[in-house]
Amino acid sequence: MPFSKLGLSDPLLRAIAEAGYSTPSPIQLQAIPAVLKGHDLLAAAQTGTGKTAGFALPILHRLSLKAYGNNRPVRVLILTPTRELAAQVGESVSKYGAHLHPRLKTEVVFGGVKINPQMMRLRGGVDVLVATPGRLLDLANQNAVKLDKVETLVLDEADRMLDMGFIRDIRKIIALLPKKRQNLLFSATFSEDIRKLTTGLLVNPIKIEVAARNTAAEMVEQIAFLCNKANKTELLCHLIKTNNWQQVLVFTSTKHGANRLAEKLNKVDIKAAAIHGNKSQAARTGALAGFKAGEIRVLVATDVAARGIDITLLPHVVNFELPRSPSDYVHRIGRTGRAGEAGQAISLVSHDEYSTLRLIEKLIGTPIKREQIAGFEASEFAPPIPPEPPRAQRPGSNVKHSCKPSGNQTTNKLRPGSAV
Ligand code: AMP
Repeated sequence: MPFSKLGLSDPLLRAIAEAGYSTPSPIQLQAIPAVLKGHDLLAAAQTGTGKTAGFALPILHRLSLKAYGNNRPVRVLILTPTRELAAQVGESVSKYGAHLHPRLKTEVVFGGVKINPQMMRLRGGVDVLVATPGRLLDLANQNAVKLDKVETLVLDEADRMLDMGFIRDIRKIIALLPKKRQNLLFSATFSEDIRKLTTGLLVNPIKIEVAARNTAAEMVEQIAFLCNKANKTELLCHLIKTNNWQQVLVFTSTKHGANRLAEKLNKVDIKAAAIHGNKSQAARTGALAGFKAGEIRVLVATDVAARGIDITLLPHVVNFELPRSPSDYVHRIGRTGRAGEAGQAISLVSHDEYSTLRLIEKLIGTPIKREQIAGFEASEFAPPIPPEPPRAQRPGSNVKHSCKPSGNQTTNKLRPGSAV
């Protein structure tokens, strides 16, 4: 079904055409009519599925039916877990609403930057406010924003907001909203906490589930390059150079690791930047813009910082280290192969990560191809990982032991796949 059949107004269809979207994604097909009708929504969908347009387009349609004058109150409130996601959602809303008359005003507010300019921007009235919960509460507490006219509340990446400890802030914000309103909740996972949050929040919600994760996992070619821990940086440089990758998102498990890796890449003339929670907002925005513009070839990110990054057609994602949580792996590979494009997710897996690799495979339900690159093979120094020991023996450090690099890190004594 084309977009034109979904009931959206012409100015919105024009923006959709300009964005280059030809057909609605599965979540858009389901969400757009439901939101247009004013239903509450409970959607299992992640970044990469087109969910932002799925809620933004029908919301804008409804808003534009009843325009306010100058003193416009916030009528749509979109809460997101991170500043990056807030900024990107704000950008999308502005883009989709570009041809609406009269123009709707969208503002984005998040923490980590000065509050005063945000207060100033809110003064003239705002139709759509995109916010991270903490900063929004600060603004509300200082009377810089009123939320008593909100018609639609969107909780985007609700699971991540709860993971980040925003539940109390969210509840406080909800208490400031009118009782009668439309509620849209998007979440990748449905934990007990999410269920508790949805009870009492959503009224007869339309439930939408798109098999985003499986689809992403199927769309994305996944390869694990088995190697030695000490060789990972060199292997990454080798992969980037020999394959001539121009835009790679690399995940590390720590902020420090992200900085270190970016520095090392820059030293060998691979332009790289790190983004993580310790970087200033300006540095993060600058790095992301440079990456999108093709000036930065490698963006090194931690999970939290990368959450919500929206870069279309990102061809390569590299796990420099496997994430500790298998579900983070799923989030990471969701950065590639988005909106129907094929992508490649590569993991550099050292001996100490074999058990994590298996956990990930269990979660995604498919085996990940193992490969080795000549000159960077995993050496034989690591004994095969034994089966799970009984509890009493757990402290035994087989795994730790196994990742100590040997003197010769590129030994060719292979034991292909035996322990993995
Ligand atoms: P989202 O899941 O909202 O983060 O969107 C993922 C990416 O898909 C964004 O870069 C959108 O611009 C893009 N996108 C959204 N809807 C469509 C569509 N119908 N066709 C092609 N690309 C889309």
